[in-house]
Amino acid sequence: MSTVYLNGEYLALDQAKVSVLDRGFLFADGVYEVMPAYGGHLLRMNEHMQRLQNSLNAIRLKNPLENAQWLNVIQILLAENVDELAGEDRSIYLQVTRGVAAKRNHGFPQKIEPTVFIMLNELAPVNKESLRAGVAAITLDDIRWKACNVKSISLLGNILLRQQAHDNGAAEAILINQGRVTEGAASNVFAVINDVLVTAPIGPQLLPGITRDLILELAAKNAIVCEEREYTEQELLSASEIWFSSSTREILPVVELNGKAVANGQPGPIWEKMIDIYQANKKDLRNGNTR
Ligand code: PLP
Repeated sequence: MSTVYLNGEYLALDQAKVSVLDRGFLFADGVYEVMPAYGGHLLRMNEHMQRLQNSLNAIRLKNPLENAQWLNVIQILLAENVDELAGEDRSIYLQVTRGVAAKRNHGFPQKIEPTVFIMLNELAPVNKESLRAGVAAITLDDIRWKACNVKSISLLGNILLRQQAHDNGAAEAILINQGRVTEGAASNVFAVINDVLVTAPIGPQLLPGITRDLILELAAKNAIVCEEREYTEQELLSASEIWFSSSTREILPVVELNGKAVANGQPGPIWEKMIDIYQANKKDLRNGNTR
């Protein structure tokens, strides 16, 4: 049984319980983060902490822990779960809700403590060969709200869209807002259009993915021409490559869109290059040579 953290205590997963009056349960009134650790090394911890802070600011909730405290708890959990979870890579899930109120009432309750929960999950090794098979995707109307930059635990829109993709034999949905591509149901989207790697600019319509930013940084360092700009569903449909990016799935090529092959139905040359760069960066992180 893995060990989790709940409100200052380290507990077996099945012993961690929260009240039915927790506002996370009643209203999805909370935010979360997911970050990978490779061989005990956290990928882009500062950036994840900054995004958490931004999400907390957006919902007007004080950060319950200092960054050093978050790090300390995560390191304890990584050590506690060495033998409990398989492999040496982890995805760390942390969640903060507004806490447990005396009764259900929409307005913010006074003087309640936030609920802080952290758990670790196994992160199966991702290798180039398994990624190369690629996935199918479909485009769907982005039905979500106007604050998708907040990593809110209110994910009903996202899960309905992801399920609709699954129901149509696809692994992920590519969301379209007023004709423009925003992101995936649980990922960011990249497209190669006229040999340029394109992704939507950050803003309220999408989550500023940490993997997205890392890809842009690595692309710039490795002379891959990229552009953050709005682009249309029409442009997406004619792209020569399409990828999803996320902390847990890294860079996943889309080989079929809306039932049609993307280019020749194989991951393209820019993906082949970028995945090597990304995995080399991961190797450096394992060896403690990057962050
Ligand atoms: N967009 C959405 C809606 C997500 O849920 C996620 C991750 O789960 C991402 C983008 C990718 O973000 P990151 O690269 O930080 O994992």
